[in-house]
Amino acid sequence: MAQDDSTLQFDDKGNLRHLLSLQGLDASLLTELMDEAEGYLTAPGALPVRSQSLAGRTVGNLFFEPSTRTRASFDLAGRRLGADVLNLDVNTSSRKKGESILDTIYTLEAMQVDIMVVRDASDGVPAYIARHVAGHVSILNAGESDVSHPTQGLLDLLTIRQHNPDFKNLVVAIVGDIQHSRVARSASEALQTMGVGELRLISPPVLAPSEGRFPGARIIHTLAEGLKDADVVMALRIQRERIGNLDGVPGIDEYFANYGVSRESIKVAKPDAIVMHPGPMNRGIEIEGALADSPRSVITKQVRNGVAVRMAVLNRIGKMMSMR
Ligand code: ASP
Repeated sequence: MAQDDSTLQFDDKGNLRHLLSLQGLDASLLTELMDEAEGYLTAPGALPVRSQSLAGRTVGNLFFEPSTRTRASFDLAGRRLGADVLNLDVNTSSRKKGESILDTIYTLEAMQVDIMVVRDASDGVPAYIARHVAGHVSILNAGESDVSHPTQGLLDLLTIRQHNPDFKNLVVAIVGDIQHSRVARSASEALQTMGVGELRLISPPVLAPSEGRFPGARIIHTLAEGLKDADVVMALRIQRERIGNLDGVPGIDEYFANYGVSRESIKVAKPDAIVMHPGPMNRGIEIEGALADSPRSVITKQVRNGVAVRMAVLNRIGKMMSMR
């Protein structure tokens, strides 16, 4: 993200106005958002927290790429805070007829959609929209190409903090298609801001990040070396939709044998290491199904935290709007 994009995220009073990236959000803001999200968590089976803090506001979900968890959780988060939520059906939207994204945005703006949640396959779309919307509209990035997925980064950070809040002494290992992963990018940014002890990125050389993409992280190509004594192991899906030419990408069996996170390969990690995955999972490729379903997996916890984190972000934006 260009430098001016991180300042674009704040209004002239320094309040968060758009959430485009976790770059530029300091440790105290990340901590405040996580603390607020904790307050929205209730025990499984208990009723979810509800408030009217966003009553009268309209949240528009504009997902121009597939989504299950992010879209559903923004929808629930908005409703649980009392907002009206509009889920635009992109397959029947006029963007399919060639309407530009800005014309779609201006159309929703005219319908008084105040908060737009945007997922798009191209770099820079959330910031581009943020620069063009009216002063009262906020843009939340719900997944931008291979660049950024800030609410995923926040929910991952919260899930790691629930396991062990001592970030400075944690070894976090992220395994998989690092080069094309916006999840890895946002998690790394958040973890570095919190001063993580060691961040390891493990992948076959063909899926390794290009130079300078993950400053401060250790790039590793051998799973056993990367998982050794790790406190947190995050497995990632191969982003086939972002890889033009799959030549050189290992086939399923070879990939699982060398980079699959499994009950066997995780034995070298710390005995209490947690296993994470942002979903959607490809069982038997990047993660063994039995491990994903085991007690050390926090994958469903990540999903629960996702709703809470999105409530925290939406509530923060709503407060900023009501202070105007
Ligand atoms: N759901 C995540 C994302 O949107 C991870 C993935 O698709 O593999 O980036």
